[in-house]
Amino acid sequence: MTEKGSLIVLSGPSGVGKDTVLKLFLERYPDCALSVSATTRAPRPGEIDGTDYFFISRQRFMELVEAGEMLEYAEYNGNCYGTPKAAVEARRTAGQHVILEIEVQGAMALKQRGEQAVFIFLMPPNWQTLRHRLEKRGTEAPEVIGNRLCIARDEIGQAPEYDYIVVNDDLDRCTDQLHAVIAAAGCRTENMSAFIQEVIEDAQAIDVSDH
Ligand code: ADP
Ligand code: 5GP
Repeated sequence: MTEKGSLIVLSGPSGVGKDTVLKLFLERYPDCALSVSATTRAPRPGEIDGTDYFFISRQRFMELVEAGEMLEYAEYNGNCYGTPKAAVEARRTAGQHVILEIEVQGAMALKQRGEQAVFIFLMPPNWQTLRHRLEKRGTEAPEVIGNRLCIARDEIGQAPEYDYIVVNDDLDRCTDQLHAVIAAAGCRTENMSAFIQEVIEDAQAIDVSDH
């Protein structure tokens, strides 16, 4: 029997390196899948519809929310972001661990409604580094960077609500530590119940009195 894959929620302030870490992570650990979110934000240069996000209108986004097709959603810096539910469920049922790279409000909504997930917060080594990374990326206008830094300060304040904190200092080390956390979470007893049952059933089917 295939164990259902875990749900992994990864949050962290804009510019901390979520996309960068996840890219390397998925190359190294292909047993995990990244959920592709829907957003009303405009694509950045190089972003591909259906790969980086599903870029949709606000009207379409609200239709999906009303149809109950979003696992969670939130408004961030004037745009809507949400996780399409069906794809996540299909992958988990096939045994893949699914990672949601989502901001804090959406993550906390999942936690509050008791969703069984591993909540991981990616931290910068310090505030200056976060600021520097966001500026260096150069994908936002200065006023947007300012807004993102304000949101980042609030988000970091909510880091203690998460199960694990992983620091993105060295990319290589951080990627492996993220994997260690996910692997440990996968070994939780509640994630191994089908496996335990299988071994028990095998044991019951064999006559052990000969030994
Ligand atoms: P996020 O997805 O969290 O908004 P990005 O992955 O876009 O962040 O990273 C923001 C910037 O920081 C990018 O220019 C990226 O190359 C850089 N970066 C990410 N991780 C590291 C790291 N460990 N060391 C140095 N630079 C990094
Ligand atoms: P960006 O515009 O930088 O791609 O994303 C902005 C923020 O939205 C990031 O913190 C990112 O993690 C978050 N985000 C991306 N997809 C989703 C989603 O489906 N739901 C929620 N709640 N946040 C998301």
